[in-house]
Amino acid sequence: MKSFVERYEGKVFRVIEKFKLLREGDKVFIALSGGKDSGAAGYVLVKYVREKGIDCELTAFHMNLGLPSSKEVEEVVKEQAKKLNIPLVTCNVADYGVDMAKIAQLPRPICSSCGVIKRYLMNKIPREMGATKVATGHHADDFIVFFFKDILGGNFSWIAKFTPLLPGKGKSIARIRPLFWVGGRENKEFCDSIGLPYLEDACPYAHLERGKWYEIVEYMASKQPDFRRRMMIGIAKLAELLPEETQTLRECEKCGEPTSTKVCAFCRLVQAQKEVKS
Ligand code: SF4
Ligand code: ZN
Repeated sequence: MKSFVERYEGKVFRVIEKFKLLREGDKVFIALSGGKDSGAAGYVLVKYVREKGIDCELTAFHMNLGLPSSKEVEEVVKEQAKKLNIPLVTCNVADYGVDMAKIAQLPRPICSSCGVIKRYLMNKIPREMGATKVATGHHADDFIVFFFKDILGGNFSWIAKFTPLLPGKGKSIARIRPLFWVGGRENKEFCDSIGLPYLEDACPYAHLERGKWYEIVEYMASKQPDFRRRMMIGIAKLAELLPEETQTLRECEKCGEPTSTKVCAFCRLVQAQKEVKS
């Protein structure tokens, strides 16, 4: 019988193959946050590329958010990249005008602002360094939670983006999510099994993110063992049926990065942050 690690890697390998996440000549930046999910994604991607002998350049990428715990987080990311045996590129969000302490004071959820910052820099920096794709540790539980939230919020068109491969367009580079078929608990068990270091809740705001929604997914999965797999098959099919994004992207008036508005969300956020008193 196959071990847990073999079954886990097999599931992730199947996502990589079924959705053609990697191509010869790709330069993939793997976004590492110091947590279990992105660490597991990075580990399996590296293993896949080496086992299959694919001509693909893999680089770890970390954004230092400038939070009290960020130094410790960066040290763990360094250990992860060492274990993966790939080069590491780091950046400080402060160098791009971001002050998380001020961002936290804005009248919008901190994790939503943080998402804007991470998406922006995760696209800009790898692209400027010649990457063709960015890999993230988004997993099945994340997509199921986003799915419920978007259904309740009436944001149906956003579900079209719930796929393991989001193709690139213009200045937006492609994003890949190899953990599409595995859940957060499996990622933790995988990292523990292979001895990959990671931090739990390294961000002081993490409790806001990991709320009741993830508990609901865990509860459903405990009552219906096939719940995750069936949900993910359904979500992927629905995403295919939904019309493709018709929104045309233009360049931000201030920074030149891709956006659907005159000034991009990142530049607006940095502007709003400047108005916060120290
Ligand atoms: Fe950002 Fe922390 Fe929220 Fe994660 S938990 S999105 S790192 S603010
Ligand atoms: Zn901008």
